[in-house]
Amino acid sequence: MDSVDVLIIGAGAAGMMCAIEAARRGRRVLVIDHARSAGEKIRISGGGRCNFTNIHAAPKNFLSQNPHFCISALKRYSQHDFIALVKSHGISFHEKTLGQLFCDGSATQIIQLLLDEMKRHGAALRLNTRVEKIDKTADGFDVALETGSVRCASLVVACGGKSIPKMGATGLGYDIAAQFGVRLVETRPALVPLTFEPNTLEPLKPLSGIAVDAVVSCRKTQFEEAMLFTHRGISGPSILQISSYWREGDEIGIAMLPGADLFAALRSARAENGKQALQTALAALLPKKLAQMIAEQLGISGNMADLPDRELRRVEAAVNDWRVKPAGSEGYRTAEVTLGGVDTRDLDSKTMAVKAMPDLYFIGEVVDVTGWLGGYNFQWAWSSGWCAGQSA
Ligand SMILES: Cc1cc2nc3c(=O)[nH]c(=O)nc-3n(C[C@H](O)[C@H](O)[C@H](O)COP(=O)(O)OP(=O)(O)OC[C@H]3O[C@@H](n4cnc5c(N)ncnc54)[C@H](O)[C@@H]3O)c2cc1C
Repeated sequence: MDSVDVLIIGAGAAGMMCAIEAARRGRRVLVIDHARSAGEKIRISGGGRCNFTNIHAAPKNFLSQNPHFCISALKRYSQHDFIALVKSHGISFHEKTLGQLFCDGSATQIIQLLLDEMKRHGAALRLNTRVEKIDKTADGFDVALETGSVRCASLVVACGGKSIPKMGATGLGYDIAAQFGVRLVETRPALVPLTFEPNTLEPLKPLSGIAVDAVVSCRKTQFEEAMLFTHRGISGPSILQISSYWREGDEIGIAMLPGADLFAALRSARAENGKQALQTALAALLPKKLAQMIAEQLGISGNMADLPDRELRRVEAAVNDWRVKPAGSEGYRTAEVTLGGVDTRDLDSKTMAVKAMPDLYFIGEVVDVTGWLGGYNFQWAWSSGWCAGQSA
């Protein structure tokens, strides 16, 4: 039987970061993954450019049953530490918006950085390898892999969440937690497009592909970013963000001209050109098809001059206080992340080790810490992976 100090299951962002750090400390490290290549999610992330961190990353950007759990890890290995690592590899990058940092070139540069660092510190990688069985021993674990068994002193579970099963996501991390009596917080898809039931969807179908800047709110949380109409419902950054807070049955509020005094704008449009139709006046402020759809939905035709203030108030509400109840989400098929997971009450926030079994670690997305859209999820992977790497 092969023997290593640290066996890491999952060659994603968190697993590779942990491997680098543990190997840097002189630990004999093996990373295994059932995929054909390492860092597949990194490769497709950020539209192929990898939004690898966020300048403003702070605990408030993360969801968890225990919002304080991430504080220590984010402090110990911050966005500035990862930015320094990226710079040290000569990878050029830029801020796209809202502190989001992307590679100028390709996301594969981040994968190469991680593989190069692993190699430099002597961490081994075995791909195309499935886990068959895990047994606890007196001084570690015996892990049966399809390529042979491995004995390890520390076992690190870094196999991600359930999102995008087509890309190799499995529930293995949750199964391992259950096997060793580690509690789980119920999981659900997050950063995911929302869908409408047929009656709501039908009139909106012609808008598919249209985007507006919007303020979207649900359960006292709101985001101001782009929103996109799709052939199933709504998507775009603001909707992905709010999807992490939305629950079945909740209504969401949408302002499609945030910050604008639409009532005043419509009154002056009426005064200046009473002969124009509402949809024409609205089209000066919103995409034409959307303006048309709003006028149709409100059943308003005829000239602006014929519309009393009461009607203009209805238009204002339809645009800036659109209340809609999504029927559901597109699910794990397209979700960027998984909410919930390994219950942080059972983990040490400094090391990511299981409190009752300190040679077992959980890092990255499998843990009940989920970031907003915008580079926060990778930062959690780097920070939690780094912390486990100092201890495993
Ligand atoms: C389309 C998309 C775009 C994204 N873009 C961004 C972005 O730009 N910025 C950002 O911050 N976040 C982004 N995310 C989220 C981010 O990719 C994840 O939060 C992050 O990859 C989590 O890292 P991880 O190491 O915990 O898990 P993963 O990266 O998912 O790695 C888990 C690894 O475990 C392996 N594995 C799974 N099951 C098994 C098993 N049974 N046996 C062996 N190996 C297994 C997988 O093959 C995988 O290599 C995006 C996600 C998606 C889906």
